[in-house]
Amino acid sequence: MNEKFYAFLDTVKKTAKEVRHAASSVGYLARKEAGKAATNAQLNVQILAKQREIQTAYQGLGKLIYDQHNGSDTESGALMEKLEALDALHLEVAELEKQAGRVSVVKTCPTCGAERKEGDAYCRVCGAKLKTE
Ligand SMILES: [Zn+2]
Repeated sequence: MNEKFYAFLDTVKKTAKEVRHAASSVGYLARKEAGKAATNAQLNVQILAKQREIQTAYQGLGKLIYDQHNGSDTESGALMEKLEALDALHLEVAELEKQAGRVSVVKTCPTCGAERKEGDAYCRVCGAKLKTE
């Protein structure tokens, strides 16, 4: 791998942090659908659609990174957009699941964001110590 690519990965990390900051300071939750009374079946359809959007967004993000690896210059703005879109989609899914009465059981590592399982004392991905509740 080349230096340019490593520099790009640094940008990815920095950008991801900035996005997370922006997301928490603005507190933008997807409230668009919140007021509507929808049936669980409708919610499930919406959740599935959002999950497909998330998969597509992951692919777009992966392509951006692969293109960069192959020498094209990716603007960090484009990257930021994709990360923001993913954050928004994840929030929307969480919101829909809440409405559907399925409180999301997926807990994540505060350090790296990896999924944690019930009873984990340390993150399986980055090894950070996890608070037990
Ligand atoms: Zn972790």
